[in-house]
Amino acid sequence: MHFVHSPIRSAYINYMVNYYMTVISTKKVKIYFGDATDIIQPAPYAHTDHGSSSHILTLAPYNKLTTYLPLQNLLFLQQTHSTTGYTIKQDAPLPSPFSLIGDFLITDKPHCGIGVLAADCMPIAYYDGAHNIIALAHAGWRGSVNNIAQKTLQQMMRDCGTRPQDCTVWLGPSAQSCCYQVGPEWVDSMPEHIEEYVTKRDNSWYFDMPKLICAQLLAGGITPQAIQLDCHACTMCNNSMYHSHRSHKERAGRQMTVMCLE
Ligand SMILES: [Zn+2]
Repeated sequence: MHFVHSPIRSAYINYMVNYYMTVISTKKVKIYFGDATDIIQPAPYAHTDHGSSSHILTLAPYNKLTTYLPLQNLLFLQQTHSTTGYTIKQDAPLPSPFSLIGDFLITDKPHCGIGVLAADCMPIAYYDGAHNIIALAHAGWRGSVNNIAQKTLQQMMRDCGTRPQDCTVWLGPSAQSCCYQVGPEWVDSMPEHIEEYVTKRDNSWYFDMPKLICAQLLAGGITPQAIQLDCHACTMCNNSMYHSHRSHKERAGRQMTVMCLE
């Protein structure tokens, strides 16, 4: 099964690089949703203290990025499936890339790229058009069950005065309910309300992470029409074009999502 973009499904999409890698471009904000051509492979010798392997960011994808995004800086995180993140204010000193530990970044700084790396986890990109604030979160099952979608929004509200009704939110590619199989012991270990987001087919259980994240965003005050799904392909169905941790196991690479303000 292939996710197919209709030519124009959103006024925000100015151009599509191909069916998978997508660049969203408005006057104020640019978002790059990458694919398997982002050559970010696990470094087998490098493991962080948090048990997850660290990744080498080669120059090739960075050069590619700068053709689409007006970047002066580029920050990634040491992602840990947490629900914590950082707000990088325009007048504060910039941290060094990969120095911060967490799973979301918020900034008001023009030309400062904020990025997450994922392979089945979902990148969630926020834009507050009233205050010109961007945020980018990384959500796997832990992050989504622990509501990183709303926690990112709450930090935007607290640190930047964001109002949910002013935000547009793009959901990036991730594992979806067609493929995201979970075991019965996983289902049993979840809080009760998560059952609503698990479906049973052919004696197997499947987690609908995008549905959970949408519900959390709506409960947080994001309007339904502000949730953009154009870039929302299943990384497992399309695992020849996306890095997919569940499909490729330990040799899975990571695709980048990077956004910045003009
Ligand atoms: Zn799928």
